[in-house]
Amino acid sequence: MAQRIVISEFMDLPAVEQLRGRFDVLYAPDFVKQRSELLAAVKDIPALIVRNLTQVNQELLDAAPKLKVVGRLGVGLDNIDVAACEKRGVKVIPASGANALSVAEYTITTAMIMLRTAYHSTASVAAGEWPKPVLGRGREIAGKTLGVIGYGFIGRLSTRLAQAIGMQVIACDPYVAADDPIWKATGVRRVSLDELLAAADVITLHVPLQDSTRNLMSAAAIAKMKKGSALINTSRGSIIDEKALAAALKEGRLCGAALDVFEHEPLADSPHLKDVPNLILTPHVAGITAEANARVSTMIAQEITAFLDQHG
Ligand code: NAD
Repeated sequence: MAQRIVISEFMDLPAVEQLRGRFDVLYAPDFVKQRSELLAAVKDIPALIVRNLTQVNQELLDAAPKLKVVGRLGVGLDNIDVAACEKRGVKVIPASGANALSVAEYTITTAMIMLRTAYHSTASVAAGEWPKPVLGRGREIAGKTLGVIGYGFIGRLSTRLAQAIGMQVIACDPYVAADDPIWKATGVRRVSLDELLAAADVITLHVPLQDSTRNLMSAAAIAKMKKGSALINTSRGSIIDEKALAAALKEGRLCGAALDVFEHEPLADSPHLKDVPNLILTPHVAGITAEANARVSTMIAQEITAFLDQHG
């Protein structure tokens, strides 16, 4: 009898079919909202595949005594109690790098939109207004400085794209040593957080959510940002003080912000984020494109298959 895999969130269908060729697969993307059904279904399974919403915590591990591996259709592991998995000998496999290009493209796109400030005019131009004097004050991206916080997979890919359009890049990452050859190889200056906040025209966050990064962009940090600069967050919501950011935009201290992630998703009614100028809000889709979905799902299908072949 083939081993059983439960998939509790959306997975690209060709990859589900690929797994079905080898295993007994229960594809139940609604399980993410049906916790008790999920807990019952994982009782005898060796492999579980999740996205970013299924909480893989002690409760789930207790309900799944035969679990050996968790595949994560994405990168951030904040919905998975990695320490508890390690203690139980459950391997966690993220889709490292598979959606990085989509996130990096989101970073560059939103940076250009925010500096140019000219793309929010569709309704007014169609209505016969001609807001040329206001919207003609945008800035070019070339020659500007991108400040990358978190110089990992996505930070480095964003750097490559930024350099290709003429940006200079500085980065802050205390876990990439000053003598790491990556700095010279990529032509990026390693700076402290304070230096980055003061110098960057656009700041982009690519750190995992953990105790040391929670509220990293606090009100005090936002106050240190260069006047007229912009902030992009595709990492995790709790890393930014949203209220302080909205205030800085309303006061005109920052030129724009793009937020793809929030402390609570979906957003509950958030009055502080309403009527904020040059604010781009997207529903956690920076890493989600047709190409990235296919890459992420294929990668996890292959990794889970290889793991079960070896350890099943
Ligand atoms: P990664 O592990 O390759 O890189 C993270 C980097 O952050 C590492 O180099 C690490 O040293 C650094 N870091 C940790 N703490 C830091 C700190 N206090 N200050 C500065 N740097 C610090 O991860 P990645 O693949 O680049 O992904 C980064 C994050 O992006 C993920 O953890 C995830 O939360 C988020 N993400 C979001 C989406 C989306 O759709 N919005 C998609 C993919 C990833």
